[in-house]
Amino acid sequence: MIGAGAIGLGTAWHLAQQGHDVSLYDPRLNKSLHREGSANDLSGTSASLGVLMGHVFRRSSGRGWRLRRRSMELWPQWIEKLQAHQPELKLHPGLLQIADDEPTAERMESLAAQRVDLGLHMVSNADLAAIWPTASHGGLHSRHDGRVDPLLLQLALRQALAGQSVALNATAVVRLERNDNHWRVHRADGDSSVHDLVVLSTALCSDALLEPLGHARPMTPVLGQALSLQLTTDPTAWSNWPSVLVDQGFNLIPTAPGQLLLGATVEPGDRASEDPLTLMRSLNERAPEWLSSATVVGHWSGLRARPVDRPAPLLEELEPGLILASGHYRNGVLLTPGTAEWVAAAVQQA
Ligand SMILES: Cc1cc2nc3c(=O)[nH]c(=O)nc-3n(C[C@H](O)[C@H](O)[C@H](O)COP(=O)(O)OP(=O)(O)OC[C@H]3O[C@@H](n4cnc5c(N)ncnc54)[C@H](O)[C@@H]3O)c2cc1C
Repeated sequence: MIGAGAIGLGTAWHLAQQGHDVSLYDPRLNKSLHREGSANDLSGTSASLGVLMGHVFRRSSGRGWRLRRRSMELWPQWIEKLQAHQPELKLHPGLLQIADDEPTAERMESLAAQRVDLGLHMVSNADLAAIWPTASHGGLHSRHDGRVDPLLLQLALRQALAGQSVALNATAVVRLERNDNHWRVHRADGDSSVHDLVVLSTALCSDALLEPLGHARPMTPVLGQALSLQLTTDPTAWSNWPSVLVDQGFNLIPTAPGQLLLGATVEPGDRASEDPLTLMRSLNERAPEWLSSATVVGHWSGLRARPVDRPAPLLEELEPGLILASGHYRNGVLLTPGTAEWVAAAVQQA
């Protein structure tokens, strides 16, 4: 496995549990997992908010929907097993999407009607009055969607891997070389080793390893900024709040009394700009007073890997023994369990 973000760690763990002999490479493996103050050198996973928007997905067929449904089915099992390594890791349930306008509310109503069994239901303006009084078209509540803390998740997975004797190599891979039926993995420290199979989960860096092998899979960066906020006024206790409230595409995530996360901007390219941040901070000038007056205690950014001219994510066996599991764009944390299962099936067939 090359790359140890959510996808690489989760897939390595799943493969090791199935009895495969796994080695994992990533120079970040010996770095601690935190975002202190203002950070911009984070992996996609460490920058992410860990929101699991599975059941509220618009489409009801196709690979994207299947991967989401399967991932949401697997998450409770994953968390239960990983709690043995990190008891604080939890699945925080409940996601509420506020409808921006009437057409959106109608679309949500039809989704809620189709997915009662999956835990979706509409919420009226009156129901929202206590937590989000500016809502004027109601909202969609999803009982089983929600959030995992992406830092605790990575910590738990790293610990689980160490317990399973997965070889953790804190070094970058600089080149892949086919050798008969094997792969020689050349490392940045000058060493190399031979493996039967290679799985690439290196997000934006994947093409640098793939292009020399004739498998160009370009991806473009889409930057996201997020904020950690401390409230100076009410509401501080978050009574009746869901784990995630989504307004105009921005997530509000209570983390402790008087504290919340707000994110994330969607900015094509790899440079953080002030305008999208200001827009998010004010929720298009529709932010409640307690939110606009909150103090910023943390601000970070990260890059999402968006495949060019192909749908996200890129799950492909590119040639015998070379598997790509990358380009998860905006939903890599959510899709980690389903991706791991897809890779395991591809490994089985290889
Ligand atoms: C601000 C922000 C908010 C987000 N919020 C959410 C959210 O709420 N929910 C959600 O599901 N998704 C969210 N995402 C998207 C999510 O973060 C990504 O889809 C996901 O992290 C992709 O995981 P990954 O493991 O593929 O990539 P990454 O986490 O980026 O990991 C790739 C790893 O590969 C390593 N690597 C690269 N090149 C090499 C090499 N040559 N050799 C060895 N290792 C290498 C890197 O060091 C890195 O650790 C968000 C993203 C951002 C930026």
